Amino acid sequence: VSGAVLLERERLTSGTTWHTAGLLWQLRPSDVEVELLAHTRRVVSQELEKETGLHTGWIQNGGLFIASNRQRLDEYKRLMSLGKVYGVESHVLSPAETKTLYPLMNVDDLYGTLYVPHDGTMDPAGTCTTLTRAAAARGAQVIENCPVTGIHVRTDDFGVRRVAGVETEHGSIQTPCVVNCAGVWASAVGRMAGVKVPLVAMHHAYVVTERIEGIQNMPNVRDHDASVYLRLQGDALSVGGYEANPIFWEEAVKSRTRAAGGLRLKTSTVKGYTLWSDDLRRA
Ligand SMILES: Cc1cc2nc3c(=O)[nH]c(=O)nc-3n(C[C@H](O)[C@H](O)[C@H](O)COP(=O)(O)OP(=O)(O)OC[C@H]3O[C@@H](n4cnc5c(N)ncnc54)[C@H](O)[C@@H]3O)c2cc1C
Repeated sequence: VSGAVLLERERLTSGTTWHTAGLLWQLRPSDVEVELLAHTRRVVSQELEKETGLHTGWIQNGGLFIASNRQRLDEYKRLMSLGKVYGVESHVLSPAETKTLYPLMNVDDLYGTLYVPHDGTMDPAGTCTTLTRAAAARGAQVIENCPVTGIHVRTDDFGVRRVAGVETEHGSIQTPCVVNCAGVWASAVGRMAGVKVPLVAMHHAYVVTERIEGIQNMPNVRDHDASVYLRLQGDALSVGGYEANPIFWEEAVKSRTRAAGGLRLKTSTVKGYTLWSDDLRRA
């Protein structure tokens, strides 16, 4: 990373990262994702700590996928086989075995579960700090409060458009290479170079419960049919859901009110009610 410069318009983690649930599930239907996630897990749980001496905040509490129908259980069996190829340990559990692992769970309507013991939860701020420390030690530079305002592009002798530099509020940097990692703002940064970024952002929310006796050390839970996840948060749960009728970024921006340093949605735009019906059945 020597010579790399990270330009952040505010402070690191001030984008989506600071409020992520931080769930890391290694088993996904695509083999590229499985490899990428297994690699990320290694970096966050071992390599960064070895390299920097700092703990990233990684918690290895495991992950549990819920199958509430036979087809879903078949899919999880296929995921388990895929995991074997890439060295990701997983186990298909019966409802009774699931109850033993997670005594608080209602398993009456389950066909089974997929348990991945080495899944876990990332701490966004801790991971970011440790990554920054490791990158700086290898010669990278992080410049905060430095918004990118433009990207210089020139056309070479063969008619190919190439990046030539980056404009910021505090000066410009000449470079032939730009990595656009602006998250939900990536489309705006892409437009600076005349590039269309096919990314659609949508509003996502989770609810944090009060203390639940006996929930400590339980795995994170994902119920794909109910479109919800339960994330262990100390001795409570964060309960998040994916809406069938999501609010897209443009709509969310229209209804936003500026809070100190962040984006706050008016409560009227938070469609929390669809989260609850399926989810409370499980918790
Ligand atoms: C509630 C919630 C729960 C989530 N849960 C999970 C989960 O469990 N597991 C999971 O894997 N993912 C989860 N995600 C998604 C995850 O948080 C994001 O994918 C991830 O944080 C994106 O990181 P990023 O670095 O790409 O973007 P960001 O963290 O948004 O970083 C982009 C940065 O670019 C900066 N920027 C923008 N424009 C400019 C500019 N012109 N110049 C300079 N800098 C600029 C911003 O200030 C920002 O800091 C969740 C997201 C939310 C909202």
